[in-house]
Parts: sequence; structure tokens; C-alpha cells
Amino acid sequence: SAASSDPLIDGLNPPQREAVLTTEGPVLMLAGAGTGKTAALTTRLAHLVRARLAWPSEILCVTFTNRAAREMRERVGHMVGPAVEVMPWLGTFHSIAAKMLRRHAELVGLQSNYTIIDTDDQLRLLKQLIQAEGLDEKRWPARQLAGCIDRWKNRGLNPADLDAGENEAYANGKGQKFYQLYQDRLKALNACDFGDLLLHMLNILRQDREVLEQYRQRFKYVMVDEYQDTNQVQYLWLRLLAQGRQNICVVGDDDQSIYSWRGAEVANILRFEKDFPGTKVIRLEQNYRSTPQILAAASGLISENSERLGKTLWTERHPGDPVRVIGVWDGPEEARRIGEEIERLEREGATLAQMAILVRAQYQTREFEDRFIQIGLNYRIVGGFRFYERAEIRDALGYLRVIAQSADDLAFERIYNTPKRGLGSKALEKLHVHARRRGIPLAAAAIEIADSDELPARARNTFLALMRDFARWRDTSSTVSPADLLRTVMDESGYTDALQAEKTAEAAGRLENLAELARAMEEYDTLGDFLEHVSLVMDNEAADETEKVTIMTMHAAKGLEFEHVFLPGWEEGVFPSQRAIDEGGLASLEEERRLAYVAITRARRRCTIIHAANRRIYGQWTSSIPSRFVAELPADHVVQETTMSGGASLWRAQWSEHGDPFADVARAQPSRTMTRGPGWQRAAAQEYSPAPKRIVETTRSAASFAAKPRRDVGTG
Ligand code: ATP
Ligand code: MG
Repeated sequence: SAASSDPLIDGLNPPQREAVLTTEGPVLMLAGAGTGKTAALTTRLAHLVRARLAWPSEILCVTFTNRAAREMRERVGHMVGPAVEVMPWLGTFHSIAAKMLRRHAELVGLQSNYTIIDTDDQLRLLKQLIQAEGLDEKRWPARQLAGCIDRWKNRGLNPADLDAGENEAYANGKGQKFYQLYQDRLKALNACDFGDLLLHMLNILRQDREVLEQYRQRFKYVMVDEYQDTNQVQYLWLRLLAQGRQNICVVGDDDQSIYSWRGAEVANILRFEKDFPGTKVIRLEQNYRSTPQILAAASGLISENSERLGKTLWTERHPGDPVRVIGVWDGPEEARRIGEEIERLEREGATLAQMAILVRAQYQTREFEDRFIQIGLNYRIVGGFRFYERAEIRDALGYLRVIAQSADDLAFERIYNTPKRGLGSKALEKLHVHARRRGIPLAAAAIEIADSDELPARARNTFLALMRDFARWRDTSSTVSPADLLRTVMDESGYTDALQAEKTAEAAGRLENLAELARAMEEYDTLGDFLEHVSLVMDNEAADETEKVTIMTMHAAKGLEFEHVFLPGWEEGVFPSQRAIDEGGLASLEEERRLAYVAITRARRRCTIIHAANRRIYGQWTSSIPSRFVAELPADHVVQETTMSGGASLWRAQWSEHGDPFADVARAQPSRTMTRGPGWQRAAAQEYSPAPKRIVETTRSAASFAAKPRRDVGTG
């Protein structure tokens, strides 16, 4: 046919070609990792434009991240030239919805110049509402309410749509009331939050036939990548837009659904064929990305999941190396080892840009950042802040800097009212005036001002108390280790308490980061040494053109590929996460396993999994157990390396002898007790790590950071 002589399409395999050329009617492309789904979708976009089936502005194309949109724009650009620059409707759900909402804001009571508020603003607003209604914010934290509201919005629910059960989800039946109050308040501020972008647009399309028709006319074609991670509100929105012409093409992989915690529903794949009758389902089975060994390892692992649509994958690539599983002694060795491997690959001709380290949780990046600084290896952290730039870390460093150097005004400004002490911007202003007049630093001014009548008594007392704290901490700093000092300061300043009171996943993550900061500090004898190290790390941002190793979370790596992938921290409690284990349900563990599948399938040539036998917490060694996912990898496609006796094979033996030990433990002890498991498990862990200096049975969790008793530091 004419199409097959088109170089654009020639490079594709037959099912891909079918997906590109089936331009009319609903198409569902369901296929495993690396089978060229995104490539086919990109070509389809180019084909629609080149064949003049639509103007670029008449195609709605949804990607999962802004970066993915940028990449697709680039790739299509290569195929069709500058026409792609006028693709206003290529982007994420949020960016597209925001653009639409600007045009119709008045329909939901907003003006077109509405502001989009961030999470901080959202929380502040909710707190105000909670206080205004006389509710105890300690008991019913704003974060909990924010979580509920996000969930409702992800499901396309307006306040009036909540059922009794949902209403109960906050403050004994006040969910609906607060949701409504919040929406009213936003409207009065001419603002909306992230979740509103889609919900408002959905409401508009539902209520206003004219607007709906206008968009149905406009969008001749609708396309969606990473469809398995769409949530309810996104699905409903898509369905409304596409149901007119029915020209909708979605691509996805049920095994890569990793965002259910943000409301994504795999069920949307199953719904699709029902809502769009006559859907052409296209399956791609040839994987072009990974070697057979990597593919087999990933497929073997994911086959442990029970809830799957199932699929076949094959590849013509050279077999390649088996997946390597390396057992190391501890966290620092893990970072050292990966650093060595990276340098070895570089000597063999690989470039840093072809390598990635994918972690389960943000806090894991710290160990690598520190190591890579030390050996001068360029790295970049994608999709998150570099460790020392995160808010809670900067706060902690702010305290430490004021202790080390009381003239550090920037640091002082950062923390004088963090956590909240009721010192507003007025107080700071007064402080500045006084400091300038007397030519002294803010911290010194705070002491003087506490003796004057320039401030209301309460503010003076607060400043006085804070400066007393600082004086004490400064004394302490000469007698205790920097890490202990940090713990004292975080506890006594109320910072830890404030985070704990939030009781959210995000706050738990921040506590984990602080625990990780303390761990990093264990290696320094003086506070000065440590702060110097940090300023060097912070300054390391190399010019952007240089080649860098990518460090990112597995979640952020979705859709990407690298020649060489390193997967550290494959230990129970890190990956699968402690949270997933605690929840104990099949669903959360299967989601973790899908995440493992995503992680392994990012690798083109080599995949290296690492687990450490020990992690240091509070300067004490905690033994860890290799992830169950290590045992689930098909043995034929894996080589195990370890410097320690026993190693993963011991674990494997224990596993098969006892079945899944975690099922029992999780049922019997639903709280964070995994590392205090049954006797055999303890034995396995100890044998695995033959001679650690001090094995203590603590849990590796944020809770333990916070639970550290105050008295044992600083006072002795
Ligand atoms: P994921 O599920 O991880 O998002 P995917 O299905 O979207 O993967 P792509 O990223 O589109 O897969 O493609 C994987 C790799 O295979 C890319 O490097 C791409 O260039 C290559 N590829 C895709 N189709 C073909 C083809 N027909 N011939 C050769 N290489 C191809
Ligand atoms: Mg893809």
C-alpha cells in the first residue's frame, strides 16, 4: 500500500503500523514495557498531521509528565517539522485542563485570571477554616482533610455528591461541610487547587452542552499515553470529550499501574471497551528495549501478581547478561559499589547519560549524592529536590547554621517561626528594624528586643524562649555528636512533634528524610565539618551540558529507558516499602511488585539490583532482610554476588521452607514490627550479616526517629 512506502511508518512492526493507520474509531493498545507503545503513539500523531487528517490544533494528546510531552513534541517535530509548534493540546491532564479552564472560568464562578494554589497554600486555607469552625486541628489535621478532598476530586465528586460514608471520612461526618466551605473560600479568592482543574472542567462539560459540543467539534482525535494510570475524573473527562467522534486511541500496560495511591484505576482499561463499543484492541508483543535476560527476570517477577490481564513478550535482541543481584554490607558500601560499577562502565565506553539509579523513596538518594560528590561523579536528581534542598532538610540545616554561626541571618529567618510559634511577619519586621539600627545580627537583635517594649509581650517571650533554646543547643554542641545535636534540636524545637501531628504519608516522608540527615551526620565529628560538607554538596550543581548519572525514583522513571540501571535498597521495609507491608493487603504489595517491574524494564542492557545487610540508624546497626522480590526473580536469569556467607540463597531457602512469612506476621502484628519478626527470621538476618558491631532490633521507620527519647541527648 501507499503507506508502507512511507519511511515514517516503515520502521514499525505490523501491529504498531495498525495502531498508526487505524485513525478512525476507538483503539486500545495494550502491551508490555518497551514494546513501542509511546513510539507508535508519537508516529500516529505525526501521521495524522502529515496525512492532513487534522490540524495539529485539532488533536488532543495526553502524556503523563510535562517532560514526556516535551519529548513527544520533539520527536514529532523531527517527523513533521515546525507544524508541531502549534500543538496547544499536547500535554498533561493538568496543563490541558488549566488551559481550557482559563476560557470558561466564569462558568464555575471564577475569573479567567484565577490563581492555582499549591499544597502549602491549600493547607493554610484549610487550617484557617478548621480554626474558624472551632475544630481541634490537632485531632483533625488539615492534611487529613486535604487528603480527603484530593481523593474526592480525583474521583470526580463535588461536595453534593458525597455519600454518608465519605462524609464520615473527616471529623465525624463533617467532610461534606468542610469540602463545601473550602470550595466557597477558593471561589471567593478567585483561586483553585490542582484537583479543581479537572473537576471544574468536568463540571463544565457535564453542564454546558454548548461548550461540550465546541470541544467535540474541535478535537478530531484524542490520544492518551500511560493510560493505566488515569484516575476517575480524568477518565470521565476523556469520555465526554471523545464520545462524539469516537476517535480515541489510548495506550497502556496494566502491569505498570503504579499510581493507585493517587486515585488511578486499572479498571479504566476494562471500562474502555464497554464505553467505546467496537474498540480495536491492539497488542504489541515484541520488546525492542531490553535484553531477553532482563525481560525474563521482569516477566518472572510480575507473574507473581494475581491480578493481571496477562500478555506475551519476546525480543530478538542478543541474550545479554543476567540480572545481577549484589548483597553488600551496608548503605555506604552500596553507594561505593555503585560508584565503582559506574566508573567501570565508563572505562568500557558507556556514558553517564546512559546510566540511572532508581530508588523507591526520595531519602535514598542522599547516600549516593554524598558518595558521588566525594569521588567527583556528576549526577542529577530528576523529579524531586536534591536531598539537601528539600524543605525539611533546609529547615534542619537552618537551625544548625544558627547554632554554628549566630550571625547567619538567612538561616535565622528561615526557622524563627518554623514550626509555627505565632511570630508573624510583623515581628520579623520589627526585628529587622532593630537589627539594622543597632548594626547587629537578627539573632542578637532577638535577645535585645526581648528586653524592650518594641513587641507585644507574647512575641517577646517567644523570642526569649527561642534564644534560650539556642544558647543551650550551642553549649550542647561542643559535647555531643552533630547527629545527636540534630535530634535534640528537632525534638526540643517542636519540629518533630509538628510533623508527627500531621499523620500523613508526606509528613512521614519528611521524618524519614530527617532520620536520613542524622545518619549522614554520623560520619562527622564536628558540626563545622558537617556544614562545610553540605555547602560543598550544595555547590556541586555542574553546568547543565555535562554528562550526568540520573538519580530518580522508580515512579518518576516511568516511560523512560537507560542502557544501565542500578536498583539499590531491595530490602524488606525499603522495597517493598514498610507502608505496603504494614497495610498487609494484597493490593499494596502487588502495586509494589508492579513498581519493581517498571524499574527492571527501564534497563536496556544491564540491570543491577543491590541489597544491604545492615543500615545504620542512630549510629546503631539494624540488620535488614533482602526484599521478597529478590527471591521471586527467576533463578535462571539472575546471578547472585555477595561477599558474605549465606547470602540471598539462605533467604531463598527460608522462604521456600516457610512460605510467605510476612503474611502471618502482618496479620498477627499489624504495626511496624517487621524487623522483629519470628525467630527464624531473626536468625536468618543475623547469619546473613555475621559480625555487625551491634545488631539492634529497631524498626527502620520515621517513627523511630521521632520516638527517640529526648533525655538521652544533650543533657548527659
Ligand atoms: P513503556 O511501557 O516503558 O512506556 P513503550 O511501550 O512505550 O514502553 P517505547 O518507549 O515506545 O516503548 O519503545 C521502547 C524502545 O523501543 C525505544 O527505544 C524505541 O525507540 C524502540 N522501538 C519502538 N518501536 C520500534 C520498532 N518498530 N523498531 C525498532 N525499535 C523500536
Ligand atoms: Mg511508553
